[in-house]
Amino acid sequence: MIRLLDNYNLTAYNTFGISAKAKTFFEFTESDELVFFLQENQLPDQYFILGGGSNLLFKNDFDGLIIYPNVPGVGEINEDRNHIYIEAGAGVEWDELVRLSVVYGLGGLENLSLIPGKVGAAPVQNVGAYGAEAKDWVYLVRAIELATGKIIEFTNEECRFAYRDSIFKNELKNKVVITSVVFRLDKFPEFNLGYGTLKAEVDKLGGGGLQNVRDAVISIRESKLPNPDLIGNAGSFFKNPVVDSDVAQSLLQANPGMPVYSASKNGKSKLAAGWLIDQCGWKGYREGNVGVHKDQALVLVNYGTATGAEVVALAEKVKQSVNKKFGIKLESEVNIIG
Ligand SMILES: Cc1cc2nc3c(=O)[nH]c(=O)nc-3n(C[C@H](O)[C@H](O)[C@H](O)COP(=O)(O)OP(=O)(O)OC[C@H]3O[C@@H](n4cnc5c(N)ncnc54)[C@H](O)[C@@H]3O)c2cc1C
Repeated sequence: MIRLLDNYNLTAYNTFGISAKAKTFFEFTESDELVFFLQENQLPDQYFILGGGSNLLFKNDFDGLIIYPNVPGVGEINEDRNHIYIEAGAGVEWDELVRLSVVYGLGGLENLSLIPGKVGAAPVQNVGAYGAEAKDWVYLVRAIELATGKIIEFTNEECRFAYRDSIFKNELKNKVVITSVVFRLDKFPEFNLGYGTLKAEVDKLGGGGLQNVRDAVISIRESKLPNPDLIGNAGSFFKNPVVDSDVAQSLLQANPGMPVYSASKNGKSKLAAGWLIDQCGWKGYREGNVGVHKDQALVLVNYGTATGAEVVALAEKVKQSVNKKFGIKLESEVNIIG
């Protein structure tokens, strides 16, 4: 099924709940429909591939084409001694896939419960939470190259996964549309409970078991993160800055108690953007329809009818104050469109 619509309202298609319109909106549910569309139409200069809209902010109306891959379906395609291979369409809600994997007793995705968004976007930023990352379970990514309409497959290695990163966020950003993802899940799950209070939460529920792990993750997330259905947001608005370790050390001397983590890159340290923002007094700040969440300084929120430009303006103020106080330039984690 395809839908091709002009001047289409995107409010329901972004978790910030920003009211923005797309000049053209193209939704498809089967790969061939996109291939045919690309044969018949020239791509405009401005276009964007939209998933669940949980990692983006529409700054203005979008004066171009939104490509919305709403491919449904989750099914087993293969198995070996220890694994079941599950293929899920790009349009499946990520958490629905996790729920089904748990119901069918397949291990791997349970720590990634309740992450908003669609399956098609999960490989893009290699979604991760509670000590787990999608990259450990993605077997194959199927996609369509926009320039040629060719169907391409990417093995796990070809996806070049890294921390919240992949080839789809770099060389192939906006160049391929992911249509489905094949996951290789464990028939004999091993639990990964080392992160934070996860084990304690699971123990409270009676100990290991995929459903208990999922329930524990959901309960921790619900207690910590604002629910986009109740208050518009796109999760962490800023990236945790990675700086030279000597920069981190001198900041630490001036600010004892500042969280510092070692980054994977040599000689680099990672700082907690939320802590830096909190120290500048932003937590709970509200300005009209936009604000900084009262418990999570890293999360900017839309209290109702904020515009994308208002959110961007607040983000700029936050960035400037962190730069002034700590000399650190924050970068946006969310994609700012327009
Ligand atoms: C409350 C909240 C909590 C969150 N917690 C986490 C967390 O714990 N861990 C985490 O990793 N993320 C988290 N996020 C961020 C977000 O959920 C993920 O980035 C998610 O994968 C985005 O999926 P989406 O479908 O909404 O993608 P979108 O926001 O629609 O798109 C994100 C990017 O992916 C591209 N894209 C989307 N679909 C496709 C496709 N089919 N083919 C090619 N490119 C595509 C888009 O062009 C865009 O660049 C959170 C967000 C919120 C709102």
